[in-house]
Amino acid sequence: RDNPRKQLLTFLADHRGEAGIVYCLSRRKVDETTAWLTQQGVDALPYHAGLGADVRQRHQQRFLREDGVVMVATIAFGMGIDKPDVRFVAHLDLPKNIESYYQETGRAGRDGLPADAWMAYGLADVVNQRRMIDESPAEESFKRNQRGKLDALLSLAEAHDCRRVRLLGYFGEESIPCQASQNVCDNCLHPPQTWDATEAARKALSCVYRFYQGSGQRFGAVHLIDVLRGKVTEKVSQYGHERLSTFGIGADLPDAHWRAVLRQLIALGYLQVEGEFSTLELTADARAVLRGEVQLRLRQPSKPVAKTQIGR
Ligand code: ZN
Repeated sequence: RDNPRKQLLTFLADHRGEAGIVYCLSRRKVDETTAWLTQQGVDALPYHAGLGADVRQRHQQRFLREDGVVMVATIAFGMGIDKPDVRFVAHLDLPKNIESYYQETGRAGRDGLPADAWMAYGLADVVNQRRMIDESPAEESFKRNQRGKLDALLSLAEAHDCRRVRLLGYFGEESIPCQASQNVCDNCLHPPQTWDATEAARKALSCVYRFYQGSGQRFGAVHLIDVLRGKVTEKVSQYGHERLSTFGIGADLPDAHWRAVLRQLIALGYLQVEGEFSTLELTADARAVLRGEVQLRLRQPSKPVAKTQIGR
């Protein structure tokens, strides 16, 4: 997720006049996204539990009966909806787990014709969802399970091999990578570029290590990236982090690149997000990377999106 509205519009430009669902995590985001899409000339309707039953019913009927309505919705929408010609399902936030993702994307293409599943997400999603799990009053065993499921979804999202194999594998089904004649995942269609991120990963992990070694404290992703990039922020000065040996060692990579590195380090299980302040911690596996025993090839961050606009 770089410029989500622009990215969504570019995606919708390929689905002009088609019915689809855009999932957002919050009611507010549903309302804001609908208003904005309407302004852009998209026939969009909101759907979430905060709307009156009559409004929800009306919007659902229009989605079912009319052509080309885009439903912008929270997960409250979809149960019992059987519209065969839903041509796309877009996610503007990372879903909670693979089960939800599979169920939501499964609402597209029930007529057997091609349909698209699309998602825009960022490191902030992972951090927020992790915090929501940590702060929930549930049993620790339940939370552990939820964290594992979030990690699995992040791994699917950050994968650079066939997503179909991974998705079906999650449900215990073996399959072969996409064939051109079938539904094709983005990774098979356009194999992502990877780069040797061994050094970058070591820099990030050793910076987390230095934080902890210096003061016994842990910090979040934003601060970590500031230190790696050598930015003298208020927080950096407050903790004297400009004196760390890792200060500025990652100045060669832009912020977005570092966020991609951190997402993948989390997805690969070398870093984990912990507690109410969403701080980053090394896992036991991180040691091997720090010792230089692991070569890491990570996915090259995707390029900024083209600037297509949907007009009336
Ligand atoms: Zn594939």
